[in-house]
Amino acid sequence: MPSSVMPTPNQEHASTLAVSAVGLRKSYGDKTVLDGLDLRIPAGSVFALLGPNGAGKTTAVKILSTLITADGGQAQVAGHDLSAAPDKVRAAIGVTGQFSAVDGLITGEENMLLMADLHHLPRREGRRVAAELLERFDLTDAAKKPASAYSGGMKRRLDIAMTLVGDPRIIFLDEPTTGLDPRARHTMWQIIRDLVTGGVTVFLTTQYLEEADELADRIAVLHNGTLAAEGTADELKRIVPGGHVRLRFDDPAAYRSAATALREATRDDEALALQLPSDGSQRELRSILDWLDSAGIEADELTMHTPDLDDVFFALTGNTDQPKETAR
Ligand code: ADP
Repeated sequence: MPSSVMPTPNQEHASTLAVSAVGLRKSYGDKTVLDGLDLRIPAGSVFALLGPNGAGKTTAVKILSTLITADGGQAQVAGHDLSAAPDKVRAAIGVTGQFSAVDGLITGEENMLLMADLHHLPRREGRRVAAELLERFDLTDAAKKPASAYSGGMKRRLDIAMTLVGDPRIIFLDEPTTGLDPRARHTMWQIIRDLVTGGVTVFLTTQYLEEADELADRIAVLHNGTLAAEGTADELKRIVPGGHVRLRFDDPAAYRSAATALREATRDDEALALQLPSDGSQRELRSILDWLDSAGIEADELTMHTPDLDDVFFALTGNTDQPKETAR
């Protein structure tokens, strides 16, 4: 193929990727925050950028939402180049989170109407959209109260409602549940799921492994300014050792003969249980089952244990502050 008709990587994926970034760099003074960040986020998916406090998550969101510029690298958001067409990027995205747009001095409704004005909606249309969104986010009763009187969860809901006035295709949610109580957190998770059902791409940053596991199609772990790993929650869990199949027996005699037959298994004589290492794949589980059958071993209980995201996170980042042992 002559080089002139070869699609560049950017052209090739512009229509299917909501965000693509190559080699994003950002430093503050001599502190390198992002050291060559690469991202490829399919449209219509939930992507979670996971990292502890100070990892650079907000910096990445600020760059991708045009609030600050990167020192190096390239990115397309909603098919538009960040540096060549920042206005087009801004028109396609919504951003909520740590730098919330909510003004506490005015009411929830006034905040919404202000957003409608910013988006140049005709007055009547603005009022209709504001009322609809306040209703959708269960804020109708509180609409006439000053936003400063709202709970943390209500403020986040108002913030998202304000973002949706502009009908964005991509929403950046920077730590949407940090500081929320469990109930408000679950409400926020449902809101995020509903956004995706509506066709929006969600770029989420979080410190919570559970949140990434719960919501994200793909998870990336930010560490030392680059992605230490990226994949589905299950893919990430499979990259750390520690997965195993556990066989438990009611009958001590059956346990002993199984333990003799399965010499490589780890024994738990008290629980009458044996552990076999496993990567958690269907293929491996099938071969373990076949092998147990052929050895005539019948366990009373068989359970699969895959490592959780905590294991992955600590294995990747080598974070030793945690009481949990790093799997390696
Ligand atoms: P996260 O969102 O993962 O908590 P941030 O992106 O907010 O992390 O910050 C990453 C690092 O960059 C932190 O060490 C922070 O102190 C530093 N940083 C962020 N913004 C600035 C700034 N405007 N000036 C100097 N340092 C900054």
